[in-house]
Amino acid sequence: MSRAWFTKALLPWYAEHKRPLPWRETRDPYRIWLSEVILQQTRVEQGREYWHRFVETYPTVAELAAATEDQVLRLWQGLGYYSRARNLRTAAKQVVEEHMGGFPDSYEGLKGLKGVGEYTAAAIGSIAFGLVEPVVDGNVYRVLARVFGIDTPIDSTAGRKQFRELAAALIDHEQPGEHNQAVMELGATVCTPLKPTCGECPLARKCIARATDRIDKLPVKTGKTKVRTRHFNYLHIERGDKTFLRKRTGKDIWHGLYELPLIETEKG
Ligand code: SF4
Repeated sequence: MSRAWFTKALLPWYAEHKRPLPWRETRDPYRIWLSEVILQQTRVEQGREYWHRFVETYPTVAELAAATEDQVLRLWQGLGYYSRARNLRTAAKQVVEEHMGGFPDSYEGLKGLKGVGEYTAAAIGSIAFGLVEPVVDGNVYRVLARVFGIDTPIDSTAGRKQFRELAAALIDHEQPGEHNQAVMELGATVCTPLKPTCGECPLARKCIARATDRIDKLPVKTGKTKVRTRHFNYLHIERGDKTFLRKRTGKDIWHGLYELPLIETEKG
């Protein structure tokens, strides 16, 4: 069955309604990559500010590669998930040392960069290089689950495969980057987790969740994320006008960041 209707409805809507974001004005893989890494786990408004900071401080990937880890962490300060910042610097060094300063223009090449997984490789590849690689992120799962009425859990192996295959069947071969961004934009601005504005949706006429009154049931998630409680006791020690700090080491959260001396205990 042809699914051209999906793109046909979506691309004109995207052209008219997309939010004007600075990384949408460029096809420079460095700037697009920065935006993709920053926007993982970060709201667009906050991400925009950090993106400007990074491109102003490090206008090229070579300048980012030459920065120290502390400098990059400092610029990243406040964004959280600091492994992203460390990966950013490592990947920049890879681009400089292994790819002579130019971003790899293949999906596999992009995936070889530190911190670049399937999603980010597809996003950079399609937007910067026109590769026909579908992106599948939380927004895409939600839009596809609802439009096609799919109740396979999105966090199951079968679900990931099914959604990836569907996204691959849908992607527009002429404008893969625009297509990918359009699906994500629809999920971010119209087909939102709570109270989607279906009246403004270009796919509403074909939407199975809407027709069968299952919008709030889709997508399905099994929700097996493990949550662990840890107890951190911090010591505030001053001597004269100085305060003791230590740098975190080892494979744990906040690696490489500074904190007050800490004793971790089993109980509170
Ligand atoms: S019609 Fe509503 S539920 Fe269906 S895709 Fe559009 S916004 Fe989402």
